[in-house]
Amino acid sequence: VNLDALIGAVRYEVDEDFAHLWIKDHEVCQGCPAKPCLAFCPAGVYHLDRAGQVMVSYQACLECGSCRVGCPFHNIGWALPRGGYGVAYKLG
Ligand code: SF4
Ligand code: SF4
Repeated sequence: VNLDALIGAVRYEVDEDFAHLWIKDHEVCQGCPAKPCLAFCPAGVYHLDRAGQVMVSYQACLECGSCRVGCPFHNIGWALPRGGYGVAYKLG
């Protein structure tokens, strides 16, 4: 899969009122030295703020599903975006 092409084909209908991804417990993240979420997300949704806390830019999510299996502590909450929101692929 050419992720750059895929990302380029994405358009977003951002739902500003509802985060469909969230960190369940920031203390768990502090005890997660590897922080694989910073690397496995193709959209760079997870990043650290200045205090070293994991932030979730859910608006950029491509709904690839990786974070539902990638967090070793199952610390990422996930819900389906509300109807009409989220990612729409222009391919096909
Ligand atoms: Fe937190 Fe999971 Fe990311 Fe580790 S992988 S920093 S527990 S969200
Ligand atoms: Fe990133 Fe995929 Fe998780 Fe969205 S579903 S936050 S694109 S890893």
